[in-house]
Amino acid sequence: MNGMPSNCPFPVDAHAHGAPCEDDGVFRLWNVGDPSVIVPENCFFSAGIHPWDAGKYDLAAFASLFDSPRCLAVGECGLDRTSEIPLPLQTKVFEAQIAESVRRGKPLLIHCVRCYPELLRLKSKLPPDAPEWVVHGFRGTKRKAFDLLDAGCVLSFGAGLLRDAGNMDYFAEIPLDRILVETDESPELFGQIVSEAAAMRLLPPSEFAAAVRANFRRIFRHDPVRT
Ligand SMILES: [Zn+2]
Repeated sequence: MNGMPSNCPFPVDAHAHGAPCEDDGVFRLWNVGDPSVIVPENCFFSAGIHPWDAGKYDLAAFASLFDSPRCLAVGECGLDRTSEIPLPLQTKVFEAQIAESVRRGKPLLIHCVRCYPELLRLKSKLPPDAPEWVVHGFRGTKRKAFDLLDAGCVLSFGAGLLRDAGNMDYFAEIPLDRILVETDESPELFGQIVSEAAAMRLLPPSEFAAAVRANFRRIFRHDPVRT
């Protein structure tokens, strides 16, 4: 199953690729990055244009996905300095998705690689009551983490915590209500990621997972229940 202790109530994976909605006892927010995808009935998802695909899709093609009450967030979207796609084009596509998130009142799931100053500048243009920004797969320095937290962002942690735990000891200092966990491309690592994150915070995994689930409910305005 998912590697979680059996007393852990339906833990939540805030960002996942791969096969949707496999019932392994984890609620997963499935990422849809292609507007032609047919989302299975029982699946909750985020939808948007990844910065690597900026210019490939028209945001208008995602409208019916965004309309779905099962679409809980816009993204993953964002900025990536290591991509061949020119940054001005990435920025234009990202800004359109920021506007979409505001218009629809859905949070943003953000991919950001070496573009934190640009990200913070865009965030500073929004009112504090705009939908939340979740920076996914975060594994930067303490300084970057707290710059994002100070700007009001939520941080989602994944396999980077397993690979890079030695450089991420600040994880224990992040307010517990600003943390999510995710598997991204590695659904099989869910139990390990939660166990490592909980251990770094000296919490039982079930208690840590319950806190993450409460964060998910608040940020995505959806209570993950078994369907
Ligand atoms: Zn992803």
